[in-house]
Amino acid sequence: MKIIDVKCAVIGKNPIVRIVTDQGISGFGEVEQYKPYLKPFVLQFREPLLGADPTDVERTMLRIRQRGAFKPYGAAISAIEMALWDVAGKAAGLPVYKLLGGKVRDRVRVYNGALRTKLPSYRPEDMAAEMKRMMALPEGFTIVKQGISFHSPMKNEPGYFYGEVAPSALHGWLDRGPMTERGMNYTLDCVAAMKEALGDKVGLALDCGPGWMLPDAIRFARAVEKHNLMWLEDMLTGDYVPFVNADVYRDLTVSTTTPIHTGEQIYLRQNFKDLIERQAVRVVGPDPCDVGGIAELKWIAEYADLHGILMAPHGTGNGVLGLAALVQVCAALPHNFIAFEYPAGDPLWWYDIVDGLPNPIVRDGLIDVWDRPGMGVDIVPERAKRYLADEDKNFFD
Ligand SMILES: [Mg+2]
Repeated sequence: MKIIDVKCAVIGKNPIVRIVTDQGISGFGEVEQYKPYLKPFVLQFREPLLGADPTDVERTMLRIRQRGAFKPYGAAISAIEMALWDVAGKAAGLPVYKLLGGKVRDRVRVYNGALRTKLPSYRPEDMAAEMKRMMALPEGFTIVKQGISFHSPMKNEPGYFYGEVAPSALHGWLDRGPMTERGMNYTLDCVAAMKEALGDKVGLALDCGPGWMLPDAIRFARAVEKHNLMWLEDMLTGDYVPFVNADVYRDLTVSTTTPIHTGEQIYLRQNFKDLIERQAVRVVGPDPCDVGGIAELKWIAEYADLHGILMAPHGTGNGVLGLAALVQVCAALPHNFIAFEYPAGDPLWWYDIVDGLPNPIVRDGLIDVWDRPGMGVDIVPERAKRYLADEDKNFFD
């Protein structure tokens, strides 16, 4: 089998990759909905991929892998990798998890990071109400994640931290600085209110930054130990920060029993090496749509497991094809897997243009792993065509 074309169209907000082969099989991959601007970045890999056998996924990836980078620039490579696995699975007549070593579990656990409401404010009572709303969702999530501190508008409160707040129109500005005692107490009050609402029925993870200084991070992680949080995410680096700082994370991790988590921005297994070998975090959270793909994520999970580190993949903006990829790879991860971050279709018409998703998708916080070939969720061209821009009219041809 040979690749004869690589196409990319922005459908809704997500760049969608299509690998076209000489045997009539196509594979699809998806880039996060926050990155529609990556379409030309995907298409520059068309030339080097032409002629490759897509069922030799690893050999094909060697043509392009070194041209990616930390978030957002690993996303194009990652979506192509997923599309290759989709082709390989369809060609073999097998679900992708079989090609990754087979199923370790029949149902995969998800945590809620996507089904949120815009809060009227980040006061403790509003955050507690949001927890109650999340608990009542029909998906029955057993773990939820909430943004706080530097990962939320909370940081804009006057006197929250000793630093300059970014003008809101500027993208890419990293708010960062020492926290005031008032800011610290306010954040702790919010955590206490959320935990009171959730009780011990639903686990709480907090997305915290990046932006914290190490002494504040240590003080906070110790102060919330009594709440038994699932993890504190991205306190020091993370999200769009293009480096890791494993040695500083190590200082934080050894100072507290609260599990410390990072990794959504990191590209490739090599860049998890320090975090894992130095036991710098208790949980890693690569995103298959940024880290270099699903096999990349599996290698990291296996290596983390050897070192006693847990795995909770990121995924909030990955769309329904990204959801399918997460289900396939998480079915095959070792026992250190906690849950992956559930992505929603956005806009909602995404659910109308694909086949293969169960209904309902999530029950009791879990998704039944499906057995259709490839990723098992397919775009139906007849239903999707109306959402194509003029320049992408030939995407399915
Ligand atoms: Mg995060």
